[in-house]
Amino acid sequence: MVLILLSLVAGVLFWIAYPILFSPPMDPADTPWPGELTLIERAEWGEEEISHPEKIDPMVSVSRITIHHDGMPPLPMKTESQIKSRIVSIRKSHSKKYADIGYHFIIDPLGRVWEGRPIDFQGAHVQGQNENNVGILFLGNTYEDKPTEAALDGMFRFIRYLRLRFEIDEDQIKTHRELAQTGCPGKFLQEEIVKARKAGKLKVAPPPIFAFDSDEYIKRLQKFAEKVIEAFEELMPEKSGVKSAP
Ligand SMILES: [Zn+2]
Repeated sequence: MVLILLSLVAGVLFWIAYPILFSPPMDPADTPWPGELTLIERAEWGEEEISHPEKIDPMVSVSRITIHHDGMPPLPMKTESQIKSRIVSIRKSHSKKYADIGYHFIIDPLGRVWEGRPIDFQGAHVQGQNENNVGILFLGNTYEDKPTEAALDGMFRFIRYLRLRFEIDEDQIKTHRELAQTGCPGKFLQEEIVKARKAGKLKVAPPPIFAFDSDEYIKRLQKFAEKVIEAFEELMPEKSGVKSAP
């Protein structure tokens, strides 16, 4: 009887310890891409080749995000080609001064994410503070154009993904004007970011510690516990005694 009890206790302990002992730690690089978010890779909109890669330092690690607007004269951005031509023109002007587009990602009015400068290259978007800093460009001039709901939603979703992927602290999500003397990212976008912080839109749930399906594990643990209880009930002498009594 004591042996059976001991082996049951050992079994329960093993089941609890199993994921800790045998599951690999969760790798932030495995952070799933948010399903509702569209990524338009560089190859789909521009030349894949980087202009003047020799002029760009590598991005060794990521610990900050900085948000910008393009600040260009408001232009209609209703069609794919209007959006694309705006990004292409920004890339062209940056390529003349620096090396390729200075921002790593661009958010369009539909809330889609366009890949800019590849993230393994340091950006060129905040003077003297580009190290470890991901540059996100919000298309439009937000002194004049109010950001669309879709664009804001896409941007906040994307920021939450980046925070998990690169383990970025929430207080390292900055706007350009919070780091330098500039009006960027414009009045309306600055206001929206301040509101989003207050509303908790930049918060992320803590990532799972272990790479295993916790729901499935809890279900299996519950089933196992039920079986243990059943086994105990069958072992109870009173129970069988009562049943077999005439
Ligand atoms: Zn800026």
